[in-house]
Amino acid sequence: MNYAEFYKQSIDDPQAFWGKQAELISWHRPYKQVLDNSNPPFSKWFVGGETNLCFNAVDRWVETQGDKPALIAISTETNSEKVYSFRELQREVERMAAIMKSLGVGKGDRVLIYMPMIAEACFAMLACARIGAIHSVVFGGFASNSLATRIADAQPKLVVSVDAGSRGGKRVPYKPLLDAAIELSEYKPNRVLLVDRGLVPMEWVTGRDVDYAAARTQHMDAQVPVTWLESNEASYILYTSGTTGRPKGVQRDVGGHAVALAASMKHIYCGKAGETYFSSSDIGWVVGHSYIIYGPLITGMATIMYEGLPIAPDPGIWWSIVEKYKVTRMFTAPTAIRVLKKYPTEFMHKYDLSSLKTLYLAGEPLDETTSHWVSSELGVPVIDNYWQTETGWPILTIVKGIEDLPTKLGSPGIPVYGYKVKILNEATGEECGANEKGVVVIEGPLPPGCMQTVYGDDDRFAKTYWNNFANKQVYSTFDWGIRDADGYYFILGRTDDVINVAGHRLGTREIEESISSHSNVAEVAVVGVEDKLKGQVAVAFVILKNAANVNSAESKLAMEKEIMAVVDKHLGALARPARVHFVTLLPKTRSGKLLRRSLQAICEGRDPGDLTTIEDPSSLEQIRLVMQG
Ligand code: ATP
Ligand code: MG
Repeated sequence: MNYAEFYKQSIDDPQAFWGKQAELISWHRPYKQVLDNSNPPFSKWFVGGETNLCFNAVDRWVETQGDKPALIAISTETNSEKVYSFRELQREVERMAAIMKSLGVGKGDRVLIYMPMIAEACFAMLACARIGAIHSVVFGGFASNSLATRIADAQPKLVVSVDAGSRGGKRVPYKPLLDAAIELSEYKPNRVLLVDRGLVPMEWVTGRDVDYAAARTQHMDAQVPVTWLESNEASYILYTSGTTGRPKGVQRDVGGHAVALAASMKHIYCGKAGETYFSSSDIGWVVGHSYIIYGPLITGMATIMYEGLPIAPDPGIWWSIVEKYKVTRMFTAPTAIRVLKKYPTEFMHKYDLSSLKTLYLAGEPLDETTSHWVSSELGVPVIDNYWQTETGWPILTIVKGIEDLPTKLGSPGIPVYGYKVKILNEATGEECGANEKGVVVIEGPLPPGCMQTVYGDDDRFAKTYWNNFANKQVYSTFDWGIRDADGYYFILGRTDDVINVAGHRLGTREIEESISSHSNVAEVAVVGVEDKLKGQVAVAFVILKNAANVNSAESKLAMEKEIMAVVDKHLGALARPARVHFVTLLPKTRSGKLLRRSLQAICEGRDPGDLTTIEDPSSLEQIRLVMQG
């Protein structure tokens, strides 16, 4: 079957299409109805069916390939490496589940997991899934304030955490931040389960804190039966990164979630049981949930959990992992590839990478240079995929497993089966023509695996996502995009990344694309800065490829003019940045997203806000300095 037909089936007859995909997972009790969309935008998948994510990820593989690797936990921070077979993983998950039960956790209770990339974090997630508890993993980089708001919102009975993480050899204490967060939050969890890695000393709170190692010895032989859940019960809450505002607790179901991930592993990532999958993300992000933990394991693949930097002990570390564990599919973010690209390619070529079939990149726009470089150096196709925390799996990509359609540079691809993607005119809500810019939306019902609601706030879900066009109820991605004449989509930035220059609305991403086309520009960020006369003006921050000849005030001015001329030519003088500043670093989160609001705030002399996820704080210092100079 070609992809066009496959896609059409998914849209024309979702019941039949998803009914077929549902065969990819194990059901305890068959569903009665594939889709119930009687109360939009709240759609229900596989109504009446009973299943369990942990059973699908672990137990069902124990029977057929129990001794094959399931979880490979590697830390270059603590120099440890441990492989758990499916059987061993099952034992550890049962022990963790027994501990949780002994601490009073039951079906429907929330468990907040605030942990680095260690095996116990995976045990904790799967243990929750096993007993029907709802996990909420909070990225380890978040500090007390962000953690406190999540504790207050999720109201977990139990928090699972550690003494410390480690980053670039530096110990990063977690426990004091957690204690401070609990102090800050009005809601207090009853119990805190702590994995003591022996990295930093901890202060224990009597009666509340429990030592995992000690508790584990009490439950070594624990057998904890799977709690079967109706397909539409909640499996987890994950708060969005908050790049654009107050974090939203994205809630996902059980059955639809399992089916969507199993199908994506087959059709998009082309993974097979017995192979190894390596996603470099973090369990604190949605990629970590979908494609470190659940997706690969549900498929019977071994999955790698990596704690450490991509460049330590040297920039060959990831490639050494690919060689050692014969990784077939790898998933990372463009930002990580840009980091690796700064180092000699010997670090890559000294390893045998012949097992690797495809590299998947997501999370931010994939630029041409990065894509070309990594694809030609690795000698494998690079597949961009566009999605969101909210959807949990790709919206746009090339579905290689069905048909190996060509990719187009700068485009993540075409709509994935199940997604009715449209581009709508922001003002009129009418569908845009080819190459006409509008808001990327998805017509309901969203396919299985997408968010069910905002945790505890159905109203916010409906209002925030489905109520942006007067004449129709569609899901808004809050991203700008265009579709070309061949049906390929291009993402042009977020709808709130718009600046208003003298009454004209301009997307910062378009200005960035234009500036990027200058041969000496490595990276660029454009923000709108308040201006008395024009309302707002565009200000650009540029990292040059070759800055050696651009060091004097004169040469900087000349380069600034050159760059402005490029924008004039592409977009017109209106879009021309008022200033182009040269820096060596841009303020980004650790997951590679530009901290646009902070950048803008600094340009306007305001407080940059919550910076707990920033990769390198010195990047903002640079911005402050150039703005003053
Ligand atoms: P919040 O919604 O809280 O502001 P966030 O949007 O940064 O946080 P994510 O859900 O992790 O959190 O990011 C999804 C967004 O990332 C998309 O809406 C899009 O803007 C961007 N994105 C993801 N993948 C791609 C891609 N392949 N190409 C371009 N942009 C992408
Ligand atoms: Mg978002």
